[in-house]
Amino acid sequence: MDEKGDVPFENIKTMGELGFLGLTVSEEYGGAALDTVSYCVAIEEISKACAATAIVMAVRDSLVCYGIEKFGTEEQKQRFLVPLAKGKLIGAFALTEPGAGCDGAAQKTTMVLDGDEYIVNGTKNFITNGGFADVIVLFGMTDKSQGYRGISALLVEKDTAGFSVGTEEEKLGIRASSTCELMFEDCRVPVTNRLGEEGQGFKIAMTDLDAGRISVAAQALGIAEAAYQAALEYAKVRVQFGQLIAKFQGIQWMLADIATRIEASRLLVYNAALAKHRTEETDARYSKEAAMAKLYASETASWVTDLAIQIHGGYGYMKEYAVERGYRDARITRIYEGTSDRQRLVIARSILR
Ligand SMILES: Cc1cc2nc3c(=O)[nH]c(=O)nc-3n(C[C@H](O)[C@H](O)[C@H](O)COP(=O)(O)OP(=O)(O)OC[C@H]3O[C@@H](n4cnc5c(N)ncnc54)[C@H](O)[C@@H]3O)c2cc1C
Repeated sequence: MDEKGDVPFENIKTMGELGFLGLTVSEEYGGAALDTVSYCVAIEEISKACAATAIVMAVRDSLVCYGIEKFGTEEQKQRFLVPLAKGKLIGAFALTEPGAGCDGAAQKTTMVLDGDEYIVNGTKNFITNGGFADVIVLFGMTDKSQGYRGISALLVEKDTAGFSVGTEEEKLGIRASSTCELMFEDCRVPVTNRLGEEGQGFKIAMTDLDAGRISVAAQALGIAEAAYQAALEYAKVRVQFGQLIAKFQGIQWMLADIATRIEASRLLVYNAALAKHRTEETDARYSKEAAMAKLYASETASWVTDLAIQIHGGYGYMKEYAVERGYRDARITRIYEGTSDRQRLVIARSILR
């Protein structure tokens, strides 16, 4: 799947049947009502085997279901959330635009009210699941004069006239996930599909991203753990200079540092999950904890997968060994759902307040 860039639809279907696609959605709406720590453990374990499958799952749970359950009407929950949680629908989250990356508020997509419909025009890029999603949480400007307070969110169904899918991106890693450009041209979306109030879109996006960043941190943790395990096993069987390479202090120190940084990542990920759990009943935010977990776990995943290749020597550079894929997959965790610099901005803003 990595080689061909094929989306693991069969696995996704099975995951839906097993209840993996609505892990944190409440039972009332067909989910498993798991706490966030348990959800992170699931993302972590799946990422050890396939980081692309994990992001398909994470986008759906954190960026789509979470926002609909928190901000949606009862009718929207019945229509979208219940089938999403049961794995019958696939969701996508579309905030990024060619000119709105780290600066997510710089939306050029417009949503103009016309009777009981919004007319949507604009382009979104790099959207995970975008090419085959049944429902897209779409962000755009309903009132440009209000800046980020003029952003709203709509639930756009895939068959809506005026909506089309553009380029499918060729990527370095998580190649078994799909990343697409989405186009909206005089696309009419009923007002009843608006998520939350008009002007509440940026708040919804940031709320979803706080949750999403914990999932990406858990994904990074799983990628790092898999690479560490592979390096550890390899060091215990590879012989050079007449002894196992695990006997060399240079290799031992690498493994010790890797194990320590993974442990620190794990604690930050679970700490952020607990912070989310504690604020679930209130409107309080856990942005700092989520940003710290994502920043540290993602930087650690890149560093660990790099060292795992080093421990494997030339073999680690070959596609035959899983650490090669881990190295490529780890890289994205420092970029999407906010780059490492973006996380530092969130942390700095929080501690300087
Ligand atoms: C595989 C993949 C999947 C994605 N999936 C989704 C998705 O499902 N939905 C979605 O909406 N988006 C998605 N994205 C988009 C992703 O979130 C953005 O790529 C990311 O937010 C960065 O935006 P950008 O690429 O425009 O980079 P830019 O914002 O242009 O950043 C370029 C560089 O400038 C730095 N920078 C920018 N501003 C500052 C600042 N203030 N201080 C310091 N440094 C700064 C950045 O850290 C980065 O190093 C995806 C991206 C990829 C690659």
